[in-house]
Amino acid sequence: MATESYVASHRIVSLDPATDEILGELECAGEAEMLAAVEAARAAQPAWAAAGVGERIGTLRRFQELLHARKSQVARLISREAGKPYVEALLTEVLVALDTARFCIHAARSFLQPESVPHGNPVLKAKSGKLVRQPYGVIGIISPWNYPFATPAGETLAALVTGNAVLLKPSEFTPLVALELKSLLKQAGVPDGVFQVLFGDGGTGSQLVASKIDKLIFTGSVSTGKRVAEMAASRLLEVVLELGGKDPMLVLDDADVEVASSAAVWGAFVNAGQACLSVERCYVHRTLYEAFVAKCVEKASKLRVGNGLDPEIDVGPMIHHRQMSAVRAHVEDAVSRGARAVVGGVALPKLGANFFAPTILTDVDHSMRVMREETFGPVLPIMPFDSDEEAVRLANDSEFGLAASIWTRNRARGRALANRIQAGTVMINDVVSCFGMSEAPHGGVKESGIGRTHGWLGLEEMVRVKLVDADLLPGWRKVWWYRYGGKFARQMEGFLDFLFARSFWTRLRGGLRASPAGFRRTRL
Ligand code: NAD
Repeated sequence: MATESYVASHRIVSLDPATDEILGELECAGEAEMLAAVEAARAAQPAWAAAGVGERIGTLRRFQELLHARKSQVARLISREAGKPYVEALLTEVLVALDTARFCIHAARSFLQPESVPHGNPVLKAKSGKLVRQPYGVIGIISPWNYPFATPAGETLAALVTGNAVLLKPSEFTPLVALELKSLLKQAGVPDGVFQVLFGDGGTGSQLVASKIDKLIFTGSVSTGKRVAEMAASRLLEVVLELGGKDPMLVLDDADVEVASSAAVWGAFVNAGQACLSVERCYVHRTLYEAFVAKCVEKASKLRVGNGLDPEIDVGPMIHHRQMSAVRAHVEDAVSRGARAVVGGVALPKLGANFFAPTILTDVDHSMRVMREETFGPVLPIMPFDSDEEAVRLANDSEFGLAASIWTRNRARGRALANRIQAGTVMINDVVSCFGMSEAPHGGVKESGIGRTHGWLGLEEMVRVKLVDADLLPGWRKVWWYRYGGKFARQMEGFLDFLFARSFWTRLRGGLRASPAGFRRTRL
């Protein structure tokens, strides 16, 4: 029977999902460690914030240099502990983290500049307001195993550059990758206490939610996200929730079948389908359906499944046997309701306990779990549609709303349809790659989450915005101050007419009625 990473009393055990070999064991953080970590973070954060954005940018630059120098070792470790092909670890994890560092380095200074607040109320023209962005203090980050480096690194860099301390609770299945992140940040010069890692499973995660952190960035499944949100609500802890997806791919009648079928196969099987943005449902216009399915079958049949460290491999193992069982259950449910597995549909035990064959399902419909629940495995269900209207209806018939893709030779048609899709991101003629654009906000609608990571909006999640307003006429007592009276009330009625009445004459009369108020002397 397949084993999996597990929490053994107070330790977590990291396993290679391709071989089940033990890679390491780590001590779990208990209540005392959690308390001490929060205290250490709170003690260290003010100096980090006071050091200034220039110094923090310098630290990120050193992190970027170190990561670039160690790119191959880091990618190999990710491949080993999470199972994904080495080249995917390099491109979807290390490159994404390097690019996030680039974005933070370039954006942080202008992002943290005080921002003027122009305003139109003539009564308050003597006010000069500025927005200042200040760090929350201590930010908790809880992350999953499927992108064990890029996800926590991106969130951590954004939190650090804006002056926060970070407590990271990585997935219990990928602790060694988190250790590597810690080591890189330490070598880059992040002070002790400013970045700490707390190992453990969901129990440690919920302790972090309950601890005295100032904000939480959670990435994981919808069910855990809801539990986290409930806990956070009880003490009004602000949270960002990056949750699961069931991303649809819409192939319109004018799409390039050759290109779109390659995209579907890559988008569904990248990271063995264990990507929040992977293609989970594919809808193809009926005129292209047969040709499209045939191309996908041909391409999926050529995929080489095996240990991700082997450079000749396209698809690695699943993370653990629970994930295997979930995928098998979706395929079995679909087949029992009339679906056909035209490729795959089975586990590959000769390769190891965690390998599932890249699978294409046809004759699927929305009564099946594989079209409604997140499968998170190497399964591509393909369903025909007859009109754009129907395609939009099918895409939106889901509790999720992370991302979607539209395939068409007519970009304007794609954009028009994109406006009607309920999702945080819609890509026209590509899949998944939006995660690699560090300037682009990432996040979902509906059950796929709340808030954004990445880009300017991701930086906004790391700061409290404060309005600092200065009066430019400090020696002037304001006309609206005490005392009131009937005369003043009538003048103010006139003033509202002057500002907002539709008729010119009413405005003029209002202005004349109100003007003596300008010379009013407040008496208290
Ligand atoms: P998960 O929800 O099981 O676990 C995520 C993290 O939460 C882990 O670190 C886990 O230890 C911790 N956790 C578990 N129970 C907890 C609790 N009660 N309180 C606090 N923390 C707790 O998810 P997973 O299996 O690790 O990851 C896969 C899921 O993550 C998929 O649904 C995938 O779509 C989603 N995901 C979303 C994004 C995104 O950006 N939207 C990115 C990657 C993964």
